[in-house]
Amino acid sequence: MPIAEASPDHATDPASQQVDFLVIGAGIAGLSAAIRLAGAGSVLVVTKEELAESNTAYAQGGIAVALGGEEDVALHYEDTLAAGDGLVNREAAHILVEQGPKRVEELLRWGTAFDREHGELMLTREGAHSRSRILHANGDATGREIAVSLLRHVRAIPNIRLMEWTTGVDLLQASGRVAGATLLDGEGGILNIHARATLLASGGAGQVYSDTTNPAVATGDGIAMAYRAGAAISDMEFYQFHPTAFSQSGAPRFLMSEALRGEGAYLVNAKGERFMQRYHPLLELAPRDVVARAITMESLDGPVYLDMRHVTKDLHARFPGISHFLAKYRLELNRDLIPVRPAAHYLMGGILTDVHGRTTLPGLYAAGEAACTGVHGANRLASNSLLEGLVFGAFAADAMVSDSSRLPSVEQTPVPPQVSGEGSTLDANTERWIEDLRTNMWKHSGLLRDASGLETMQRALASLADTMPRGLNRRAIEARNLHTIASIITASALGRHESRGAHFRNDYPQHDSEARHSIMQRDELRFQSRI
Ligand SMILES: Cc1cc2nc3c(=O)[nH]c(=O)nc-3n(C[C@H](O)[C@H](O)[C@H](O)COP(=O)(O)OP(=O)(O)OC[C@H]3O[C@@H](n4cnc5c(N)ncnc54)[C@H](O)[C@@H]3O)c2cc1C
Repeated sequence: MPIAEASPDHATDPASQQVDFLVIGAGIAGLSAAIRLAGAGSVLVVTKEELAESNTAYAQGGIAVALGGEEDVALHYEDTLAAGDGLVNREAAHILVEQGPKRVEELLRWGTAFDREHGELMLTREGAHSRSRILHANGDATGREIAVSLLRHVRAIPNIRLMEWTTGVDLLQASGRVAGATLLDGEGGILNIHARATLLASGGAGQVYSDTTNPAVATGDGIAMAYRAGAAISDMEFYQFHPTAFSQSGAPRFLMSEALRGEGAYLVNAKGERFMQRYHPLLELAPRDVVARAITMESLDGPVYLDMRHVTKDLHARFPGISHFLAKYRLELNRDLIPVRPAAHYLMGGILTDVHGRTTLPGLYAAGEAACTGVHGANRLASNSLLEGLVFGAFAADAMVSDSSRLPSVEQTPVPPQVSGEGSTLDANTERWIEDLRTNMWKHSGLLRDASGLETMQRALASLADTMPRGLNRRAIEARNLHTIASIITASALGRHESRGAHFRNDYPQHDSEARHSIMQRDELRFQSRI
């Protein structure tokens, strides 16, 4: 069956509005883009929940940036390449590390308060970084500080309109270009927004797995919308599993930031032994995929813990958010062993774009976690994603402005109503259906893969397709999008006969001789060396 299941069956007649630029998503990528777009026209930013609800707001550890001059920039580039395991788009990585300092200085001017000591910015180190280059804010609440300061700035710009509790449903297309999107508002009303250029900055898709650090909004909607419209989607088999999410029955999979290991945390197994020396010379600061697999292997014999009992620093002051969370479970970083196991965390793949955010469809752009420029290759270097949103959000905005004058204007292109469907209410069946999909994905298309598990997943997806939720409400839309995301991840993982970065196949444990990207478009999977 085709992956892009059509949702509509009953025509509706939605209201229409016109803007110059439509931005779907209000995380770091969407807001950075909106600020730049506002100089060139009217901007509408829509987001599924409250403005503050995004992966960005949950980011803890910090933002990686080379503020130490040319040598530091060169080392940041090398570290990004090394983590990406042979698949990084070098042009994108160059842009990321070179533009990073400029964009972060802009954030400082907009009032982002990164942590300082004696007036100087504090820098910490995380896994696979050769230097301390991670800026953080309020200890372990970096994302919230960035989100709050960006929103403060955005709210002061008259050209930007913000719409909360509004879900992007499908893209509008006319005359061979994307011309806006259909939205579902909080009351269940449908609205067609016509735009000169549309940016998908809708974030990742961690909710496709039962175990994830991502909030509920991360259901891969933008990627599924782009796929249905015919855009190329790339490298979806590369899902980063964070090694250390809190692991206690009944507790959320709260992230135990990599910065804990940066500050000296050990990983110990059920016997109380450190074990990373058996897996990688960088020990606890090895790349995330290596640490995540090591923990999975050690977990076969019992729980794995973070151990910071030897660290003399005041960890409560350094990690107030994590300490507050742990206190609910009567645990303290300086005193107790903290149980951890991996959880789905960051999607390296996404909507295929060039470094200017251009997708394969005219009029459609993507940035941030929803996009795939290839900057992270097969595995993202810790704390490079906030920087990605800042840098490529701005680049995409510049391309949207310069391209939009060349594309036919939307006034000349009649756009038929694209979305329709039954506005049914939420129901328990939809929740059960989603849980079934997520549990199957964790089991068969997760951290350790093989052909038999992936084929089992494909059969599960075919059977889930028979009972696909069909209503035109947010949860049913998310369910269909999660099915699309799960199908692309599984097909791409099955087609990649090697292990690389975050993608590990028990039946193909080695690298292929050639590093290739996967591309999925209109139900066809292909591999190519450059994107
Ligand atoms: C717990 C956690 C900790 C992290 N820590 C770090 C860190 O320390 N450093 C780092 O660099 N990265 C970190 N990351 C990753 C990083 O936060 C994200 O990759 C990054 O913030 C993504 O930014 P974005 O703007 O692309 O997407 P997001 O910030 O996820 O924003 C997506 C936006 O799109 C909206 N949206 C989604 N679907 C729709 C739809 N259909 N219609 C309308 N709106 C929609 C969402 O509501 C949201 O506003 C962390 C992630 C998590 C989950």
